[in-house]
Amino acid sequence: MSEELPAYCLVKCNICEYYFGKHKNSKISCPRCRTGNKNLDIVDRTENAEELHRLVSINNLPSQLRKEFEQKNIDKLEQNTNFDLKNMLPNILVESVNEEGFVTVQSLNGKLRARRIKFDALKLAHNAEFEGLLMRVSEGKWRLIG
Ligand SMILES: [Zn+2]
Repeated sequence: MSEELPAYCLVKCNICEYYFGKHKNSKISCPRCRTGNKNLDIVDRTENAEELHRLVSINNLPSQLRKEFEQKNIDKLEQNTNFDLKNMLPNILVESVNEEGFVTVQSLNGKLRARRIKFDALKLAHNAEFEGLLMRVSEGKWRLIG
């Protein structure tokens, strides 16, 4: 089996700092300053033309705008995470029970990290308490209900 490279490249022009996309088989030169191959770097690859379009637009935004744009996407991601988290919460709690049979901030934190979820363990535990999934035993320590 031959390994195919993704069909599109995101190219950066090192002369004028312009980003543009190209099909992997097409010849490259910067559409803005016309410089050729040796001053151009392929900085990303993608299989998807829409993704390529998005990459080109993002990279050509001035850096401050780019930050805001990325922040917006992060906010969106967090909303999704929170939604998923609600569904995953019972599983995460079960997995977080330690050898002594308790859920602690530490054990919860470990499970969140393992799932690459950025969420405050204490806040999560308090949510779970509120939802009647956990019963507080002492500060930072809970027993799983049910
Ligand atoms: Zn250029």
